[in-house]
Amino acid sequence: MKVAIIGIQGSGKGTQAAMLAKATGWQHISTGDVLRDEISRETALGKKLAHFLDKGDLAPDHVVFSLMLPYLHKGHFILDGYPRSMAQVIPLDKEVILDKVVVLTMPDNEVYRRIGARRQCKQCHEIYGLNRQPSKAGVCDECGGKLFKRDDDKPEAIEERLKIFHTETMQVIRHYKKKGIATEIDAARPVEDVFADIRKLFKV
Ligand code: AMP
Repeated sequence: MKVAIIGIQGSGKGTQAAMLAKATGWQHISTGDVLRDEISRETALGKKLAHFLDKGDLAPDHVVFSLMLPYLHKGHFILDGYPRSMAQVIPLDKEVILDKVVVLTMPDNEVYRRIGARRQCKQCHEIYGLNRQPSKAGVCDECGGKLFKRDDDKPEAIEERLKIFHTETMQVIRHYKKKGIATEIDAARPVEDVFADIRKLFKV
């Protein structure tokens, strides 16, 4: 099964992808995490990528593709955060045929409310927010790592990312709808309810 989860910022895309991966054994590939990993390892590419992520801009398409490519031929996978623009769809569709695309929808005001509360673990990338607080403030329940607020979760960056979503990513959604493989799911609901719909969709 080759799946992409596309969702507006804060829709719980990463959380749902991780839950689906746990339930199925399919590999969870988060583009944001792949990019942040490159940055934290301070590779030559990582140094070039940092300012795109800090501002909330999309990283260059050819760089993202080259980083994602090794994951695309390793069996079942769930893409989380890729593709986000038609320029990314074109090389991806040439490389693999996606079976299903899950689209998580939510109004913009809910995006601001949720992202304002979001923190992520520096070590294992686990996400915390309104629906999931760590048992000890600032510390990851999973690995004891330190929780932080991503620069791209700050209000100016959120605004920029929403603009990109409503222009670029909407075209991607329309493209997969036309192919008949995209399903929209209302993500402005509790995590478990959204996941129940995803389970039904994949019959898992
Ligand atoms: P995410 O963790 O999915 O919210 O992504 C965080 C940041 O990583 C985004 O704001 C972009 O700067 C970058 N990013 C993630 N996915 C992509 C992508 N498909 N193309 C370009 N940049 C991306």
